[in-house]
Amino acid sequence: MHTIAIIGGGFCGSIAAVNLMRLSEGPLRVALINCGFPVGRGVAYGTRRPEHLLNVAARNMSALADHPNHFLDWLRTRTEYADIPEAVLRETFIPRRVYGDYLRGLLQWHARPIRDGHAASIEFYDKEAVNITLRDGGATVVFADGDSIAADKVLLATGNQRPAAMPGDGAPFTHPAYIDVPWHDWESRLPDRHQDVVLLGTGLTTVDAFLTLSALDWRGTIFAVSRNGLLPHAHFRGIEYPEFPPEDPSALGLNELAVLLEEHCGRLRGLGANPAIAVDKLRPHTQRIWRNWSLADKREFCRRYAARWNVLRHRIAQDVHQRVTTALTDGRLQIVKGTIAALASAGSRVRVTVAGTSGANVVLEAGLVINGTGPQTSFTAGSSLLYRNLLTDGRVVVDELDMGVQVDEDFGVRERDGRRSPVLFAIGPPIKGTLWETTAVPELRQQTYRVAQTMLEECGLGEPAPRLGTTADQELLEYCI
Ligand SMILES: Cc1cc2nc3c(=O)[nH]c(=O)nc-3n(C[C@H](O)[C@H](O)[C@H](O)COP(=O)(O)OP(=O)(O)OC[C@H]3O[C@@H](n4cnc5c(N)ncnc54)[C@H](O)[C@@H]3O)c2cc1C
Repeated sequence: MHTIAIIGGGFCGSIAAVNLMRLSEGPLRVALINCGFPVGRGVAYGTRRPEHLLNVAARNMSALADHPNHFLDWLRTRTEYADIPEAVLRETFIPRRVYGDYLRGLLQWHARPIRDGHAASIEFYDKEAVNITLRDGGATVVFADGDSIAADKVLLATGNQRPAAMPGDGAPFTHPAYIDVPWHDWESRLPDRHQDVVLLGTGLTTVDAFLTLSALDWRGTIFAVSRNGLLPHAHFRGIEYPEFPPEDPSALGLNELAVLLEEHCGRLRGLGANPAIAVDKLRPHTQRIWRNWSLADKREFCRRYAARWNVLRHRIAQDVHQRVTTALTDGRLQIVKGTIAALASAGSRVRVTVAGTSGANVVLEAGLVINGTGPQTSFTAGSSLLYRNLLTDGRVVVDELDMGVQVDEDFGVRERDGRRSPVLFAIGPPIKGTLWETTAVPELRQQTYRVAQTMLEECGLGEPAPRLGTTADQELLEYCI
């Protein structure tokens, strides 16, 4: 029997396992290896807090690329969503913990040992994978406890890296009142609720932390620090705008596209519409645009436009945005614009020094500091022992921007000698350098489907998969927006 090992049991790993079960035409064993966050739910959907909402509307959160309404249909099985009118439910931002239940349930269902008369099963390993060595026609996955398993194919679905360490006194900062990984439960470490809190970053994780503090009736001031001081924008109802994008936006270089975008953003503003519509309309083309750009274009985009792009692209539900805006108005939430220069212990509290944009330092002292700066962006600076070993052995190579590992059109990992690995595949955040847009469910579900097809095909257990960028492949992305 063939064995496919998947390292990482968040959205990508779990739904890839589900698709392998759905699509396999013969006996198959899937080994789902996961540690750190709950299997099925991963980092994003492991939260237990009811105030943490999805930032994508329910209509676009199906986990299955070939069943666009799968999540909506599942929601109907729950009493609280059963009677909501279809048009309303489609646009609702569901709590992420409910979405985690959906993913976990889907995984559980497909983990059944017998399917359609042939043996296909998922085995769960609550272990850290630390290395992969190649053997004849396959690989051995080595665990931190010294155990190992043999596999014919291995899928890397390891998710985002932890946030980068913060500068302390010559070493990464640690302190009981400092939360370095914001996705783990931190409510048990809260000080007296009249104390101030500093949130490092002003993105989606900071919004999550603000919502939790608000739900706990926080009385101290909440400071949020970032270089640009930009909070996420709210979702909005779009308008018909067929003038954009042009027929093949992936043929445009960065400068041409930037000029065109500016022009259409201006036109949209003139129509009284939100200019982010132009960003949304590029979404199904983003991966191809990125792949066609030169390295110089990619670098320039990261330097000049990425921060603005992210703010427009990763938006939040309107009522969440309203709560943030109200807190800003009444001073409960304050934005500090500048670079985080250093963190230092101040007894039971933490002192944060921010190099302000005017040149002067701002010093904040808080009973709790949470690192919400987002995943570490330099792949090689990440701390994963697995990747350090794979990089050392040349089993994977970083992309030219050091965002992740290099893959080819069908997610096959490139080795140091430039050849496609016969065994290793990668999807999700670790392939950001190849695709740029590889963060949210609408793109990830497509990857989990296609990589499952490819691995099964190579094991002689399924039909060929459409190659990246082909029409058949593009169809899977069609209902993204
Ligand atoms: C807080 C948050 C909220 C988000 N909200 C949304 C949303 O509303 N809508 C949307 O479309 N997208 C959202 N996203 C983006 C996206 O859906 C997630 O990033 C996605 O779930 C990524 O899934 P993943 O499986 O790649 O990674 P993860 O969920 O990070 O899972 C990876 C798993 O692999 C484990 N792992 C890593 N290395 C090893 C190893 N060596 N051995 C064993 N296990 C290992 C990790 O510990 C983890 O459990 C959100 C992201 C975050 C972080």
